[in-house]
Amino acid sequence: MNYKIKNISFALSTACSANCIFCPPHRGDSNPVNMSFKVAKRVLDKLSSKAIINKFQYIGIGFGALGDDLLNPHFLDILRYRKEVLPKNPSCFFTNFKNLSSEIAEIIISEQLLDGIVCNIDGASNRTYYAVKRLDFEKVILNLTQFIKLRDSFNSNITININALTLNNYITTIKNNFGEYPLKLNNKSLIQIEDDFEDIQNLLFPIINPNLDSFRRSGVRGWAERGLMKKKKIKLNYKNYICPYFNDIISTIYVAPNGNWYACCLDTKFNLIIGDLTKESILDLYKSSKRKRLIRKLNLKQFGEIGPPCNSVNFCQVYYKNKFQTFLVNLSRQNEIINHMKNILLSSSSIRNIRSKIMDR
Ligand code: SF4
Ligand code: SF4
Repeated sequence: MNYKIKNISFALSTACSANCIFCPPHRGDSNPVNMSFKVAKRVLDKLSSKAIINKFQYIGIGFGALGDDLLNPHFLDILRYRKEVLPKNPSCFFTNFKNLSSEIAEIIISEQLLDGIVCNIDGASNRTYYAVKRLDFEKVILNLTQFIKLRDSFNSNITININALTLNNYITTIKNNFGEYPLKLNNKSLIQIEDDFEDIQNLLFPIINPNLDSFRRSGVRGWAERGLMKKKKIKLNYKNYICPYFNDIISTIYVAPNGNWYACCLDTKFNLIIGDLTKESILDLYKSSKRKRLIRKLNLKQFGEIGPPCNSVNFCQVYYKNKFQTFLVNLSRQNEIINHMKNILLSSSSIRNIRSKIMDR
């Protein structure tokens, strides 16, 4: 049997001090909100057992999947424990930088607890940044700048990948593709807001290090707009869609704050639970009929049968301002995933046997 798990992604907290317009409204309703150290330790102990490491040969460990993990009081202890038990795996952290103070930065950098950070800077001023995220812009830029200075003073190689999704880009993209304004857009005068992507670039380029860091405009994912399904009574022909995260679903273990393995990072309400990683064996969950059934249904595009959130698969896709660009990008992504599925099928042992029998003829 081929074991394909390559990444582990922890949601240590579903709380967040931001309220981004592009973030689903019910993200953060989990119980508990924060992963306890006990649960994290239990899961990490299992993931780092020799038998599991030899089978799965993970590559990366991620944190910050569904919120601001810095709001978890055990954040640093969990990072330290990860380093102790899985020291060879690079780890990456998604954060908005609001709570990444210089004190925490110094600990992370001096103890080498992370290898990379991913964040969004979605506006170039207090006004545009706050309009997208409801977060203190000056604090975020101060923390980011201090982090980079500290990183340099420790000669650290922690990379920072920055994405920008401006309010203008988000509003226009949603309007052009769905014919509606974003569900969280309460202040309609913001429709006129300028696209300050270039200003963000001009602000960040003197701060970041081009040899370590990157900056790019991010595509728009529609997952915060799932409410439009009901509002617009949208009926989907599921054959026209593909699960855009299919590769990640077969190669990643997503760990919810309660220790459950959930199947997809877009599943903010934890509907797609594979099982409890604190109680069940990882191998049993990996081979479970529940997991296989979900993968089979995603592969066969039976999104309606799976139920939420997959039954609104149209909102899982990436969208661009220009509808034609959306169509082209998603088409090429579909081909990529279809080819990947074909390769998986062709490399599975049963198919290999059939193939070799055909070749023998
Ligand atoms: S910073 Fe991230 S988790 Fe927080 S509201 Fe924004 S997108 Fe959601
Ligand atoms: S279709 Fe389902 S599994 Fe795939 S990305 Fe959407 S929510 Fe996730």
